[in-house]
Amino acid sequence: MLLNQLTILKASKGLKNKEFSSLELTQAVFDEIKKSDGAIHAYLSLNEEGALARAGEIDKKIAANESLPILAGVPVAIKDNILIEGLRCTAGSKILENYVAPYDASVIKKLKEAGAVFLGKTNMDEFAMGSSTENSAFGPTKNPCDLERVPGGSSGGSVAAVAANEAIYALGSDTGGSIRQPASFCGVVGLKPTYGAVSRFGLMAMASSFDQIGPVAKNVEDCRVIFEAIKGKDLLDSTSINLSTSDVDTTSDVKNLKIGIPKEYFAKGIDAEVEEAVKQAIKKLQDAGAKVEEVSLPHSEYALACYYIIMASEVSANLARYDGIKYGYSAINDSLFSVKNLLDNYLKTRQHGFGAEVRRRIMLGTYSLSSGYYDAYYLKAQKVRALIKKDFDEAFEKVDVILTPTSPTPAFKIGEKIEDPVKMYLSDVYTVPINLAGVPALSMPCGLVGRLPVGLQIIGPQFGEELIFEAGLALEQLLD
Ligand code: GLN
Repeated sequence: MLLNQLTILKASKGLKNKEFSSLELTQAVFDEIKKSDGAIHAYLSLNEEGALARAGEIDKKIAANESLPILAGVPVAIKDNILIEGLRCTAGSKILENYVAPYDASVIKKLKEAGAVFLGKTNMDEFAMGSSTENSAFGPTKNPCDLERVPGGSSGGSVAAVAANEAIYALGSDTGGSIRQPASFCGVVGLKPTYGAVSRFGLMAMASSFDQIGPVAKNVEDCRVIFEAIKGKDLLDSTSINLSTSDVDTTSDVKNLKIGIPKEYFAKGIDAEVEEAVKQAIKKLQDAGAKVEEVSLPHSEYALACYYIIMASEVSANLARYDGIKYGYSAINDSLFSVKNLLDNYLKTRQHGFGAEVRRRIMLGTYSLSSGYYDAYYLKAQKVRALIKKDFDEAFEKVDVILTPTSPTPAFKIGEKIEDPVKMYLSDVYTVPINLAGVPALSMPCGLVGRLPVGLQIIGPQFGEELIFEAGLALEQLLD
């Protein structure tokens, strides 16, 4: 096996046993990037010099027999909306094309302490708005399983990098499915943690009541290792908390696992072959002794509408900061424009600095928050959100985990949905309810439609990450 194909656990073991060095491992990953990334375009910028220097430092520590964390010396790709001090951070937007991060995100600080080697920053839909990575201002990423297809989005670059062995693992962000849906399209594992489990400090805000940073990895165990390294209370993010797993019983025996299947998720709109692959995987767990029962999440049909109102409202507030004064691109410095006054600069900067999807959401969100519409849209959506959360609370009184498809279809063709926003939004139908409820969920591969991977979503109760990992590990073995 080539070094760049290793999992975190194998890479870490090899480093520890001095079978290879971090420098060799990192170089092998950059070799693959140079070979493949011209076609895939997972990365927006590389940190080759920094990464090799850091790998060399870790190698010295290994040579001195220092005891190091699992992630030490293992190369990672970071989504381009997470700040790494001194590196460019664009969020896939022209408005931040030349923005250099002045500090580290809290997750980056943690990874630095763990000895991580940062390969570079990965492509994404502009400000994480999208499901295909086609909304990047810097061109789309391609799905490594089929270059004519999208990798999913918005963390398409992070996921494609891991799937193409251009990284050992990656970080993405998930506001409505942006880690899980691409993980399902590219055949890797991705976790959206419980809201508050991982600090958002240094993540460029999209919709703050949904956003979470999470891991992308080649298997479930790696995902767990990364989650352990990045989770925890951070004084710089008042919504972060220390996970208290003591209230959640875990089980390492499939026979004790109670699995819920929500009937609303196997209704119209789902691709027949996706449904079949997911049901086969569930059957395998059932045959191994897990108890499977139908549950109901009755407000599911309102989730997408509810998400697109609240998310857009938060987007419109969060993106007000990009005004051509505080950060990045400003029309006043653009020779294409003659700017008349301050207001004119605001207008031209935002009109030309943001892409169409971002402007669409800012307008929708501004509308839902404006006086006269606030009660009818924003407030109503918040009430529906509470009902959706209640659906999950009630289901988790009966079962340990809930299993669903991650996405109703496998990866679609580049260009297939980009002209029709509603069609694009529908690819999030199974992932957004999880962000509305704030619960954790993981996507893992469970089969193929032709050569396209199908993702299975394992949803857990709040703080139920361990339960999810146990179920995922069990299923991984059964699918082997
Ligand atoms: N695809 C969804 C959207 O466009 C989710 C995005 C995300 O999770 N960042 O809103």
